[in-house]
Amino acid sequence: MNAFQKLGLDADLLRAIEDMGFETPSEVQEKSIPILLEQETDLVSLAQTGTGKTAAFGFPLIQKIDANSKKTQALILSPTRELCLQITNELKNYSKYKKSLNVVAVYGGASITDQARSIERGAQIIVATPGRMQDMIRRKLANISSIGYCVLDEADEMLNMGFYEDIKSILSHTPKEKKTWLFSATMPKEVSKIAKKFMSDPIEITVGSKNTGTSNVSHEYYLVNHRNRYDALKRLADANPDIFSVIFCRTKRDTQKVAEKLIEDGYNAAALHGDLSQNQRDLVMKSFRTRQIQMLVATDVAARGIDVDDITHVINYQLPDEIETYTHRSGRTGRAGKQGVSMVIISKSEVRKIRTIEKIIQQKFEQKEIPDGKEICKIQLFHLANDIKKTEINHDIDPYLPTINEALEDFTKEELIKKFFSVEFTRFFNYYQKAPDLSSDSAGGRPEVSEGNTRYFINVGSKDGYDWKSLKDFLTGELNLDRDDIFKVDCKASFSFFNTDEKHAELILNTFTDYQQNGRFVNVEITKDQKSDRGGKRRERGGKRNGKSFNDKKGENFKGRRRSEKSDKKGGRKGSRSKNIENSLKRRRSKA
Ligand code: ADP
Ligand code: MG
Repeated sequence: MNAFQKLGLDADLLRAIEDMGFETPSEVQEKSIPILLEQETDLVSLAQTGTGKTAAFGFPLIQKIDANSKKTQALILSPTRELCLQITNELKNYSKYKKSLNVVAVYGGASITDQARSIERGAQIIVATPGRMQDMIRRKLANISSIGYCVLDEADEMLNMGFYEDIKSILSHTPKEKKTWLFSATMPKEVSKIAKKFMSDPIEITVGSKNTGTSNVSHEYYLVNHRNRYDALKRLADANPDIFSVIFCRTKRDTQKVAEKLIEDGYNAAALHGDLSQNQRDLVMKSFRTRQIQMLVATDVAARGIDVDDITHVINYQLPDEIETYTHRSGRTGRAGKQGVSMVIISKSEVRKIRTIEKIIQQKFEQKEIPDGKEICKIQLFHLANDIKKTEINHDIDPYLPTINEALEDFTKEELIKKFFSVEFTRFFNYYQKAPDLSSDSAGGRPEVSEGNTRYFINVGSKDGYDWKSLKDFLTGELNLDRDDIFKVDCKASFSFFNTDEKHAELILNTFTDYQQNGRFVNVEITKDQKSDRGGKRRERGGKRNGKSFNDKKGENFKGRRRSEKSDKKGGRKGSRSKNIENSLKRRRSKA
């Protein structure tokens, strides 16, 4: 009897499991599946990302569904479109030998009529994002009034994304007797609140320790001027020649740009984000697993599927919007008993976030300096020496040795070593000798990669009942944008700020032309000083402002409806010379 059979799974599932190549259940599966199969109970199951939670609820759910009835019997809520599709695909794989079982994905950004039609044909299981599910219910395109099971998958992430109200409202359309299964990587307050409010006497399963980062991970942060973020990233990579890392950016756009720049600068890098096709993503992941890629630049959502064990470094190129997400990121390293480092590149204004994270992960960060040129040269030289030591001699070069020996016969071993290292390193030394100090106080360096973002002012804030999450919800809803598209949402008392890619500027300004909410005009403008909201803070502290008068006073900090000039994009690009140096260095590295 195989280990999955022991859990009580039926023949159709076992065949599918065999096809997928799963040999043994993971811990969360081992603990959750028998309970869910044998009991009709609510369940809270906590396990780190990548531990197989989908199957932990997917297997028992599929076994419990009556495939002969076309009624919708289960609803799975998931935070993003990508995850929604991922879960749907997994469930389809699990149930491939249950011919009449249909799983339908319901998510924003695709035709709601098509989705409704699929449901009408009979969908025993619906996998949905909360926003679109709400739409479906409102328009009576889906009936969840007699479901037996509701799964809240990646519950922490859903709450971080501000879906509490949506979840609450969706659940109000489900029967009281249904069972709720909540799966989450972490258990922040909000998740306990959901468990308390919407579940009755749930059985609780915890795999690993609750709410803490992996202790195999050490945490470091590097203070830099925000303009130097990219250069700092490169130095961190150069100072760790054997780096095998995931680099996290906040948006798809930044992910793409950072990856492109790294590639351009000769690193073995690639981007992983939701705009790539599944095929492209598979290719990237394959190259990463086989170490052809040393630096994988990813969005949080795309990185959720990464199950690679030997990652040495996680680099937070930008901190996540939702602080809890940091745990997911750092959990990519320090796996399978190995040690890992989670690095954070931050500007001064973000230091307080580090303190918040320390509380969540219950671990201290070490503040470190970005290595200077000399240090990096030393590390690289040492690494090269080590490489030489380890290199097996290639005897194909034997026929050429006499000529080489003849050319070099006048030199001693010491001289040869000096010459060899000089060939490899003079240009590299020159590049780093001229490289500026990247500590946060010094100016210079090239602008941050993420320009091309636009920062907006909006005249609603916490006095209007918003916090950054609900404001983000409001904006994504009104603008029909992805959650990824709106970031750096900063909610003040009576006004707020947020960022988008500049391509959305027109949509945003048009949407909020003559826009009224509860009889009040909601006004959005592009901030004049896109780099910071210092203007806003100053005003806030002045304490005189109130919502009503703001429109009259906007002149000094904000220019209405006028795009501020973008900063010189490729400003201080380094010349091709130093780039070649780096390329040659990286080429060598990639051979190692
Ligand atoms: P989580 O939801 O906990 O983050 P997933 O359910 O997405 O994790 O699973 C992560 C990966 O592990 C998926 O690719 C999945 O197919 C695979 N997986 C799940 N269970 C097993 C298993 N028992 N054996 C091998 N691989 C598994
Ligand atoms: Mg999952």
